[in-house]
Amino acid sequence: MASCCNCSKKGLLLRTNKQGVCKECQPKVAAEIDKHSEVIYEDMHVHERSVEKAEKLAACDRLLASAEILVKYENWGYTTCSPPAKLVLDEYTGFRKDLVDE
Ligand SMILES: [Zn+2]
Repeated sequence: MASCCNCSKKGLLLRTNKQGVCKECQPKVAAEIDKHSEVIYEDMHVHERSVEKAEKLAACDRLLASAEILVKYENWGYTTCSPPAKLVLDEYTGFRKDLVDE
């Protein structure tokens, strides 16, 4: 029996895509991926260009929160942002730590 990994709906007639998401959830998941990818791209720029520590930290926080959400979708088999959210999460967790330790 198929079940949707986004809304947990189950049923004999439920159709899911190869990532295990039902038809109803597919556009929602696609919109979430777009939204959080945008946040990541924007905050990568902020982090790169900003000279203020507080601003860099805020960018890291927003970016990491979005990356965590995208990692969930990547685990389902989706392609999200580029570089993949998993790498973004690792890399910026390190950057954030360096900022705090400075
Ligand atoms: Zn669903």
